[in-house]
Amino acid sequence: MTDDADIADGKVYLVGSGPGDPDLLTVKAKRILEDADVVLHDKLPGPDILGMIPEEKREDVGKRARGERTSQQYTNERMTDLAHEGKTVARLKGGDPFVFGRGGEEMVYLAKHGVPFEVVPGITSAIAGPGVAGIPVTHRNHASSVSFVTGHEDPTKEKSAVDWEALAATGGTIVVLMGVGKLPDYTQALRDAGMDPKTPVALVERGTWTDQQVVTGTLDTIVEARDEAGIEPPAVTVIGDVAAERQNVLAFLENDRMEDQS
Ligand code: SAH
Repeated sequence: MTDDADIADGKVYLVGSGPGDPDLLTVKAKRILEDADVVLHDKLPGPDILGMIPEEKREDVGKRARGERTSQQYTNERMTDLAHEGKTVARLKGGDPFVFGRGGEEMVYLAKHGVPFEVVPGITSAIAGPGVAGIPVTHRNHASSVSFVTGHEDPTKEKSAVDWEALAATGGTIVVLMGVGKLPDYTQALRDAGMDPKTPVALVERGTWTDQQVVTGTLDTIVEARDEAGIEPPAVTVIGDVAAERQNVLAFLENDRMEDQS
């Protein structure tokens, strides 16, 4: 299925970095980062993990790198070229490479261009962000399902890519990634869909980073809480009764490195 009959001598590892704490890298990810000739990354793995990688091996292909937006096409071609030069490439992505990370697109591109690859899963921020803030994404009494959704609407789409009405009806936990800016829109959509305005909501900013910040509220109050605390991406939004569990354990949250702002 390759366009090019040549199979590259090099190899690309699609590596998940986990949410940012270097101790949450997998053993395999750590080994690959050490062994790779080149690490292609964006900013999402965070300063602690990026700081472990020697400067000379690092190439920032993040959206804001290289002066202007780096295109996905550039990243695809760079990975492919390096592999055809015989290099071992770590394509390092925040969290898990296949959770809103375009890892799926990159994998297919590599396959089509004759590049051997391997997927190295990572701990996704969608679970770990809430987790370190004392929020279990499922709970026997409160949530028997969890949905991971993007809060970043494609403006060219006429209809929302996410069916908020259907999500409200699940009764399970909703975890929104890339959802800081559009928080007012989807909290409104959920209330319009009949969800209780008092439903607990938490925002976990830079989960597991040394400057992690968490704010809590409800569907009604979380936008104000976001603005007061100045929450910025990267942050996950957790919507559902599980978000209230945090209050029950706050005094004992060893890994919650910041004082609660709520
Ligand atoms: N593949 C990543 C997600 C990429 S989309 C993963 O599995 O975690 C980018 C979004 O991920 C951010 O907008 C934010 O919602 C979330 N995110 C990534 N790292 C985060 C962290 N340490 N804390 C909170 N949210 C994070």
